[in-house]
Amino acid sequence: METDCIFCRIVGGGTDTEFIYQDEEVVVFRDIHPHAPVHLLIVPRRHVRSVNDLTEADAPLVARMILAAREAARLQGVDASGYKLLFNVEWGAGQRVFHLHLHLLAGKRWAEGG
Ligand SMILES: [Zn+2]
Repeated sequence: METDCIFCRIVGGGTDTEFIYQDEEVVVFRDIHPHAPVHLLIVPRRHVRSVNDLTEADAPLVARMILAAREAARLQGVDASGYKLLFNVEWGAGQRVFHLHLHLLAGKRWAEGG
């Protein structure tokens, strides 16, 4: 755990953040600056800076994040209508919290191919 990391504090229960879904490896909660009607963050409990810092041994963790996203989509009722899963990697791509997280966006219409 990195004490100055907001996501480490959230997964550690140090805030009043509501978890949409949680298991031994990941938690899911709402983005406080939503870009869509449903905007969730899938966050591993273990601190990893970004996709760039993942190792071969983290492959099961990445799979767990995607499966947690799928479950959260089902719980939010957007699994059938559709959702996006997105990793922003490092500052230039929009990553602002440097604790690995997967965005789930749903509830609006995107242009074809967008
Ligand atoms: Zn962290």
